[in-house]
Amino acid sequence: MNTATNSQNPSGPRKIGKLTVTVDRNLCIGAASCIAVAPKAYVLDSEAKAVFLDTADQESPETIIDSAKACPVAAIIINDETGKQIYP
Ligand code: SF4
Repeated sequence: MNTATNSQNPSGPRKIGKLTVTVDRNLCIGAASCIAVAPKAYVLDSEAKAVFLDTADQESPETIIDSAKACPVAAIIINDETGKQIYP
């Protein structure tokens, strides 16, 4: 069973490759669309908010960006290595 990392900031910001990914817990409605796209990156916690898995690094940057695009409430925020927000 996969386990969530970083109990202090379970929803990020989390570095995945060159991307920095953050789930806005206030926006997240637990739709789990992100998990369908990137099952190694996220899991829902007990509050039905997306948190990062230890295996998040195994997802490609393209998949991470697709997971953010899949979120119906645009709760997944992605910054590139320069700090520029690339999604949403
Ligand atoms: S798709 Fe968006 S709303 Fe759904 S669990 Fe993921 S971050 Fe939360």
